[in-house]
Amino acid sequence: MPILVMKFGGTSVATLDRIHRASKRVAREVANGYDVIVIVSAMSGRTNELVGWVEETSPLFDAREYDAVVSSGENVTAGLMALRLQEMDVPARSWQGWQVPVKTTGVHSAARIEEIPSENIMAKFGEGMRVAVVAGFQGIADDGRITTLGRGGSDTTAVAFAAAFGAERCDIYTDVDGVYTTDPRISDKARKLDRIAFEEMLELASLGAKVLQTRSVELAMRYKVKLRVLSSFEEYDPNAGTLVCDEEDIMESKVVAGVAYQRDEAKMTLISVADRPGIASAIFTPLAEAGVNVDMIVQNISEEGRTDMTFSCPVDQVARAEKAVTDAKARGDINFHDIVADKDVAKISVVGIGMRSHTGIAAKMFDVLSKEGINIKVITTSEIKISVLIDRKYMELAVQALHDAFELEKA
Ligand code: ADP
Ligand code: ASP
Ligand code: MG
Repeated sequence: MPILVMKFGGTSVATLDRIHRASKRVAREVANGYDVIVIVSAMSGRTNELVGWVEETSPLFDAREYDAVVSSGENVTAGLMALRLQEMDVPARSWQGWQVPVKTTGVHSAARIEEIPSENIMAKFGEGMRVAVVAGFQGIADDGRITTLGRGGSDTTAVAFAAAFGAERCDIYTDVDGVYTTDPRISDKARKLDRIAFEEMLELASLGAKVLQTRSVELAMRYKVKLRVLSSFEEYDPNAGTLVCDEEDIMESKVVAGVAYQRDEAKMTLISVADRPGIASAIFTPLAEAGVNVDMIVQNISEEGRTDMTFSCPVDQVARAEKAVTDAKARGDINFHDIVADKDVAKISVVGIGMRSHTGIAAKMFDVLSKEGINIKVITTSEIKISVLIDRKYMELAVQALHDAFELEKA
């Protein structure tokens, strides 16, 4: 029988009632003739609570134990969904990541899936089981330790299963009815897209649009998985949602496809470092080794052989970053006068493949922000996006102003 992957995010399994609703959707696809692999998230809020407990217990925690704790939310929903399906007379059972096994790298809290052997689950489908409910977000490393795939990782579990099992489609059920031109929670003018190109979705996701985890889009693109985002709250409609697809499969496309934001950024500056060959490596190697996700980097013009080095990273990694560079200073690897951390910044990005062939988008973006009186702290660009760092208090304003200026509400 053809296989369908259905993923339900946290809000879609937030209560027993919602698990029941989601199960009805699964049962419908079983009735339509599919063997279904369901990927579940933890109940909404649960993963945050677990992360909070870990941080309270051990601020610079052992990432292996972090994974042991935060992966547990998905185990609960997988079991509950299997039970609910059984109550509906649908043959189902749950799997935790290690039971499949979902084999991953050993990079705890940011592991990558390496292999998903299909025999185990296929054998059960062969025996008449119709639904495999798999705990998303988790896997097992070579050393036998439990790993997690980074926040939002259940999306990636879903796409990886769709690829491994040759599923007909991977449906991502969430609390919005598709991918929008910007986060509909920030702008009521956001417009739902019927289709979006993989590359645009990849940029939007990596720049903060958390509707899909970045890695899931990468995998879908590489393995040609038919990926759809849709609401678990609306009535059943076979054409609902947004299809993430190849650029060639989109008729109309605008220069700018969407606006993304990342709220919890920090800007850190090392004041007065020696400007010499190897200094960037001496600063950023220890940051990388400490697991700091450095994003934007700016080095000032140097004066008398000294310069300031500025970089951005997620705000919850500031302590880690400070420790890494302070330790490097203590070892004599680098020298600086001071570290200044600005924890109140956000990143705003505009994305669109049309930027490859259109000029002036950056100029327009800067003009819009300047008219709103918003100061730009750092800028980065790539072929299909422009990102700026601004004060967090202007984040919503900036998103809305850019959405208006690029007329994204119009089809
Ligand atoms: P789930 O728990 O189902 O995985 P997430 O909260 O991870 O759901 O992702 C869905 C959320 O993504 C939406 O509620 C919405 O606020 C946010 N979001 C951000 N950018 C976009 C966008 N461009 N289109 C749709 N949703 C977006
Ligand atoms: N529960 C995890 C998280 O909140 C994974 C997911 O929902 O995708 O990040
Ligand atoms: Mg998510």
